[in-house]
Amino acid sequence: MNKPRVATVWLDGCSGCHMSLLDMDERLLDIFERADLVYSPLVDFKDYPQGVDVCLVEGAVSSEEDLHKIRMVRERTKTLVAFGDCAVTSNVPGMRNPIGVPALMDRAYRENVTINPQIPSQVVPKLLPTSQPVHRVVNVDVFLPGCPPSADLIYTLLDDLLAGRVPDVASARFGR
Ligand code: SF4
Repeated sequence: MNKPRVATVWLDGCSGCHMSLLDMDERLLDIFERADLVYSPLVDFKDYPQGVDVCLVEGAVSSEEDLHKIRMVRERTKTLVAFGDCAVTSNVPGMRNPIGVPALMDRAYRENVTINPQIPSQVVPKLLPTSQPVHRVVNVDVFLPGCPPSADLIYTLLDDLLAGRVPDVASARFGR
């Protein structure tokens, strides 16, 4: 029997949620004996495949690149998890929302720069007017809060999903 296919995606986040995933330590072996990791910034797969069973999405949707990616991920994924507070609420990336993109870009690339200040026109993905939580852009199946979510919480979520149970992260949060 084929194993469930698991992916993780990194949008506008600090990678702390992925670091917490790695903090599962030896429990990673338990999870990935039961599932195949088919895409992640932690491994070298270049393309997000079709037919993903579970995807953990870290970070808010802040750029056109994020928007394109999360729509594609949603289309190809059965159970999409908003992974951490940036994905759930927009959290830290959302702090730029009241400022507006032009003022933000000026501050970052002109006002604080001494050599050749200029707004980048290449390489840096074009920002959306505001940074949005994932559920504002696509349907989310499971919300996993925390900045970052603890390794215990991530393990409980994956253990439940791989066993076909509805995730009970609230109980895990308060100890079960
Ligand atoms: Fe980083 Fe916290 Fe956002 Fe995760 S929720 S990406 S740890 S700021």
